[in-house]
Amino acid sequence: MSSSDLSFHDTDHDDLTTGRAPWGYRQVPPDRQALTESIKTDVAIIGGGITGSLMAEHLSRLGRRVVVIDREQPGFGSTRASTAMLQWETDSSLTELTNLYGFETAANVYRRSYAAVAGLMELVAAHRISCAFQPRPTLYIAAGDIGEKELREELALRHHAELPGELLSYTSLRREFGFDREAAILSPGSAEADPLLLSWALLQAARGFGAQIIDADAVKFHDEGGRVLVETSGPHVIDAAHVVLATGYIMPHFVMPACHRISSSFAISTLPQQPDHLWPRRALVWEASEPYLYMRTTADNRIVIGGEDEEIADPQVRDAMLADKVLRLREKLTRIWPEANAEISHAWCGAFGETSDGLPLIGPVSGASNIYAAYGYGGNGITFSYLASRMIAAMISGEKQAWFESFALDRNVSAQS
Ligand SMILES: Cc1cc2nc3c(=O)[nH]c(=O)nc-3n(C[C@H](O)[C@H](O)[C@H](O)COP(=O)(O)OP(=O)(O)OC[C@H]3O[C@@H](n4cnc5c(N)ncnc54)[C@H](O)[C@@H]3O)c2cc1C
Repeated sequence: MSSSDLSFHDTDHDDLTTGRAPWGYRQVPPDRQALTESIKTDVAIIGGGITGSLMAEHLSRLGRRVVVIDREQPGFGSTRASTAMLQWETDSSLTELTNLYGFETAANVYRRSYAAVAGLMELVAAHRISCAFQPRPTLYIAAGDIGEKELREELALRHHAELPGELLSYTSLRREFGFDREAAILSPGSAEADPLLLSWALLQAARGFGAQIIDADAVKFHDEGGRVLVETSGPHVIDAAHVVLATGYIMPHFVMPACHRISSSFAISTLPQQPDHLWPRRALVWEASEPYLYMRTTADNRIVIGGEDEEIADPQVRDAMLADKVLRLREKLTRIWPEANAEISHAWCGAFGETSDGLPLIGPVSGASNIYAAYGYGGNGITFSYLASRMIAAMISGEKQAWFESFALDRNVSAQS
């Protein structure tokens, strides 16, 4: 394992995230049962964060027998550190993806991502999930080398892909939103949520459809005549027709594709603001820079601002940087939104999994039959987790689609262009 990875066996929630985000701590987490005997199931989902929850709700609603196992409290991994900007615009712009894979493939990825956020909205509405979910527009603002010309070109590509959005020039951005930047793309169709409450509510919904939530540590996976035997750290095993790995940034060694890496990200939240001191329409704001700065508001009128990513995986090195990063984020907040009361209520940091093309890792694990990976990496982690749940359910049913290859673990950047 390289130094840019986290150990599958030894990494725990404390290594994934430090500090606290302002999410639903007063709610009661779903209980887990102990594994008191070996069990047989259709699908074993390893990991009960937002990815495992979305998988569990969907598969159990489709009538599959589902077991979710987590060795710690579900939701308290990377999910609780998420700033939960539920965007369809991916970390790589449509321009960048077109350069890598050609327009048709890139446009399809963007449309799938758009549909995933729309699907999440429908899901939250269908279960009436109380998780501060709000549809929001996004503002993708000029920064660094990306100015008005580049944003205009990006928008033209998006329109060609039949995706919505409009360009705001300096004057209209200033007038409509109050931001002092060269230009921005304003797009509808994204959302925000409390990621912890969303994740827990989905697990409860899955349980309502018959899913079991088990407290166990998956340590080994064996192929047993076309089924997968999941060995746990205790005496009992789970015998599953299919296994879905939803272990977040803790990836087993036998999965580990070359295009993945672990870095660190940092975020702060302010005290609640006067509502009329927040920017109009409470758009999700993100900068067109690498690494980018992003911000959103919360149901109780806080501003959450994050970014300042570092290419380090070591939790101790990351945590030692937090105090300095808090000051930098605070300073950036006062520059981008001078009306903010920049008194900080929460500060946190976490491991952040990324891929070189900004796309998730979804699909069969090569060399391991009936084991699927659901790794919604990057700043669209949750959007991609939704996509993973729909794709893997289809794969388990035997469906094959050419576009699944865009997210395959063994995808080859140059081969698809
Ligand atoms: C600071 C920060 C900001 C972010 N902002 C955004 C954002 O704005 N929008 C967005 O979409 N995404 C964002 N993300 C990414 C998003 O948070 C992640 O993609 C998402 O939370 C991953 O969820 P998960 O369920 O895959 O992983 P986790 O929540 O980490 O869950 C994995 C679970 O697997 C369990 N597990 C691991 N190994 C085993 C094992 N062997 N046996 C049993 N259980 C096991 C763990 O205990 C854990 O509970 C952000 C991430 C960070 C750190």
